[in-house]
Amino acid sequence: MNMSDQRAVSPHVLIFPLPLQGPVNCMLKLAELLCLSKIQVTFLNTQQIQERLRINSAGADVYFKRYPNFRFETVPDGLPEDNPRTGDQIGHLLESMDAVAVPIFRGMVTSGGEYGPGSENQVTCIIADGIFTFAAGIAAEIGVPLLYFDTISPCGLWTYLCLPELIEAGEFPFKDDNLDEMIRNAPGMEGIIRRRDLPSFYRTNDVNDRIIQLVLKEDKHIPLAQGLIFNTFQELEAPILAQMLSVCPNIYAVGPLHAHLKTRLAAETCPGVQPTTSCNSIRREDSSCISWLDAQPSKSVIYVSIGSVAMITTDQLFEIWHGLVNSGSRFLWVRRPGSVTGLDPETTKEIPSELSLGTKERGYIVSWAPQEEVLAHPAIGGFLTHSGWNSTLESIVEGKPMICWPYFVDQQVNSRYVGEVWKLGLDMKDTCDRVVVEKMIREVMELRKNEFLQRADEMAKLAKASVSEGGSSYADLDRLILDIKFMKI
Ligand code: UDP
Repeated sequence: MNMSDQRAVSPHVLIFPLPLQGPVNCMLKLAELLCLSKIQVTFLNTQQIQERLRINSAGADVYFKRYPNFRFETVPDGLPEDNPRTGDQIGHLLESMDAVAVPIFRGMVTSGGEYGPGSENQVTCIIADGIFTFAAGIAAEIGVPLLYFDTISPCGLWTYLCLPELIEAGEFPFKDDNLDEMIRNAPGMEGIIRRRDLPSFYRTNDVNDRIIQLVLKEDKHIPLAQGLIFNTFQELEAPILAQMLSVCPNIYAVGPLHAHLKTRLAAETCPGVQPTTSCNSIRREDSSCISWLDAQPSKSVIYVSIGSVAMITTDQLFEIWHGLVNSGSRFLWVRRPGSVTGLDPETTKEIPSELSLGTKERGYIVSWAPQEEVLAHPAIGGFLTHSGWNSTLESIVEGKPMICWPYFVDQQVNSRYVGEVWKLGLDMKDTCDRVVVEKMIREVMELRKNEFLQRADEMAKLAKASVSEGGSSYADLDRLILDIKFMKI
């Protein structure tokens, strides 16, 4: 296509998220932001995610009513309906997507497909999750620009991108069991990251391990994209974002996206569009916890959640439970059905009476919460979290200190940054002991409460400023929108 033809095709972005709650949630927020800028958006969900959005939240309807320029498409993920798509099943999900969903996606965007070159609905830009390495080849084949959106944290992704250097320097695989050894060959992370702060799947002796190979593959594909989108803000991660420029010189740091969307929806330019925060949940939210929170004193409750994918053993669950009760703090705990490996306490009668009593007096348990609303509630004083990137950002925006108990992927890195770099809480990493849980809750909720709250409040202000007019994320989103509108195909 030559320059004179370029404006004939109107901007149309196809967004393809990793089909999990966290990535779908923040990619939908980006989709809304693009729709507000009059860009046509097609959002490609798996059928499983789409169905769960439909059943559990306002889901698709909200988007259809709000944006005439938004549409969903679906592909099967190839897994049986009863696969939990959590914990160690995520590897299977990726393999199955490759085998089943990718050929359909390819058919959609290549010649002859509904969104292929020359069609009425031709896409002019693909935004895919960074883990979707297949997107680079397909985008190049059809001559459409590709932007990777890495929905994990930039600090987490940087530990992926440094893996070849770690291997070359002999730092990976680890030579011994000392997880406290500092990492030397991750530029910008010197003096910060220990072996135990790298993603937990780095704790292998095998370079040919399936996940390690996946990381190395992602490292090779990321520089092939025309740009890299992050759900973060400069004031939080400037040093890492600067390092990242050596891999991808075109970075858009547009987060925290949930806060960014609220700002833009509230702006005068979008009259009549009401902000909603809870239309992206793939599980049924139990809002009764909000009434319970309404009855609790200010900053008295610790919120506990391990997100949508992490798993917990029965022993760990009891350690956390004892720690919570022994801390004397009030607590709101999300116990996601199916998240306990081994014997689920819900199905046993052997719950110690002190736990039942302590929970009845000071606790509230739900199977899924409206998390953004919970974290914004004045009764919440802290967050015991698995350090998923969305949860971390949601906590930061609301100025809530964290106790971090990471599970996998970027979470080990995030928890280190929360504790050591941003000083927004404590990193409980690799420990799950009732005494430590109790001690950390007491520290965050009582002994060092003011110190952590003050720090969290400062960071919350920076986060909100970044997504306000004149802020760094606001400017990056404007640049992203302009770039999409003028992309050459
Ligand atoms: N979430 C929620 N209700 C809950 C627990 C989690 O709405 O009870 C949401 C949370 O707000 C976040 C997402 O689920 O947006 C989890 O994403 P995150 O990246 O934190 O972790 P993941 O689930 O991907 O491990």
